[in-house]
Amino acid sequence: MGNRVLITGSGIAGLTAGALLQKNGYQVTLLEAAAEWGGCAGKFQRKDFTFPVGATLGMGFEPYGLHTKLNEYLGITINAVPLSTVMDVRIGSRILPYYTERARFLTMWEKEEPEDSLRIMNFFNEVWRIGNVLRNHMQHYPVLPPGSFHEYRALLRGFSLDSITLIPYVNQSLTSLIKKHRLQNCMTFIHFINGVLMDSMQTTYKECELLMGCAALDIYHQGAFYVEGGLFRLAEELIKSIRENGGTVKKPRNVVSVNKKDKWRVEDHRGHIYETEHVVLNVPLSNLRDLLEKEVMSKIHPKIKAKEDPLKQWGTYTVYMAVKEYCLPDDINLFHQFMLDPDGPPSEGNHFFMSISKKGDLLRAPAGYRTITVSAHVPLKEWQTKEAYDYKSTQIKNNVLKKLEELAPGSEHALVYVLSGGPRAWERFVKRKSGGVGGFPQTKQNALWRSVRHRPGIDGLWLCGDNIFPGAGSIGAASSGVHVARSITGKRLV
Ligand SMILES: Cc1cc2nc3c(=O)[nH]c(=O)nc-3n(C[C@H](O)[C@H](O)[C@H](O)COP(=O)(O)OP(=O)(O)OC[C@H]3O[C@@H](n4cnc5c(N)ncnc54)[C@H](O)[C@@H]3O)c2cc1C
Repeated sequence: MGNRVLITGSGIAGLTAGALLQKNGYQVTLLEAAAEWGGCAGKFQRKDFTFPVGATLGMGFEPYGLHTKLNEYLGITINAVPLSTVMDVRIGSRILPYYTERARFLTMWEKEEPEDSLRIMNFFNEVWRIGNVLRNHMQHYPVLPPGSFHEYRALLRGFSLDSITLIPYVNQSLTSLIKKHRLQNCMTFIHFINGVLMDSMQTTYKECELLMGCAALDIYHQGAFYVEGGLFRLAEELIKSIRENGGTVKKPRNVVSVNKKDKWRVEDHRGHIYETEHVVLNVPLSNLRDLLEKEVMSKIHPKIKAKEDPLKQWGTYTVYMAVKEYCLPDDINLFHQFMLDPDGPPSEGNHFFMSISKKGDLLRAPAGYRTITVSAHVPLKEWQTKEAYDYKSTQIKNNVLKKLEELAPGSEHALVYVLSGGPRAWERFVKRKSGGVGGFPQTKQNALWRSVRHRPGIDGLWLCGDNIFPGAGSIGAASSGVHVARSITGKRLV
């Protein structure tokens, strides 16, 4: 077999696979349809301002973290600043700082919810113990469900006596742990947990698969980071790595057809044909049918076809702002999560995540200015008519501006830009069909053994991205890229 690899898409997953493969002697060609690299972790520019389109909060940059290990392996340097407060969680009029340090985090709960604090402490101690065991597994990049000798071996590598203690938690939702600690009626705690899980697991505690939920509630305590410029810097460095090692990267090049004769034949929108031994698709599962020729599509595993509906993921409405710095308090935290009406839904304009560029981050804004990215989950089914779209987007934008004014009094006069994008923009600019983003909600139906792995069941065709195990976030996407690179090379790599 030859060593050519064609990668469709420059999301974090495709870039990770591409950089690892090119470094290991494969001949990589990566095609990106958009004008920017990085997909949901990319950027766009307006004059002197740079806006991260989606992902802003960095994880996996701690020593031995996934991005740190990959970056060391690839010789990449990223300036990621550790945060002592991951974010301020704003539930109605209350502000709960999410401290990275566990003891400080528990002290915060003692102060905020004195009556329930012992049970909250016991809950988190159990969550973190589970998270610790899971981390020992994840550092070997296991694939679920495993499909080869190497993948079974990676799964077993993380196995220890502690792994056995996870058995009682298997196939349950986080509800059981919350009920066990009798916290289901501690509403501030529940809103807090739900907000965090929505942003990381795309679902709330009632539906969230227990082990994935514990991993999410553990991860910030490993480290959360502000990446200078934004996570698009990681995308740019991965592109550089592919190039410097002799690979080819092209944009804008929209892949329009993937077919298999003797070899794989990939066609881009300009009619260029690429013959190759391996094709890696870094696209959502809902995009597969548009790319794969009929005969190839007919061989795709039924489990994958069952997840084609883009409406099974959330959409997002994003607001991008540039402000004059004077309106922001000097000590303002960089990340904020808002739950306006605590009893309302964790979506639409009631719940959103705000990221502010760091003072002096000149990759984002000139001196004296800052940029802000805000994202809200939106249920795509309810955004299908123009009337609904217009009404809901105005509502979210108004809520965002109101909250910004509370954070930064006078901001309405300090605003330089207010731009926004709904599901249609996400479809247009990063090709997420119907605007479905963030990966599948990590429910019992979608997570772990029920997730989609990187082998779709056809020789030489590979999948990666946030729709593929382990899912969601730049870490999940990068892991799926590692799985592809390991499977193609047959080497452990990292
Ligand atoms: C609003 C928002 C906020 C987020 N915040 C965070 C965060 O703070 N921290 C975090 O870790 N994660 C965050 N995430 C999640 C994270 O950004 C994504 O899960 C991750 O970046 C997805 O990477 P991916 O590899 O799946 O590819 P994608 O980002 O989906 O990129 C795929 C790329 O493929 C290209 N493409 C698709 N089809 C074709 C084609 N036919 N031909 C050529 N190219 C094609 C697209 O243009 C795109 O560039 C956020 C996501 C969103 C939407």
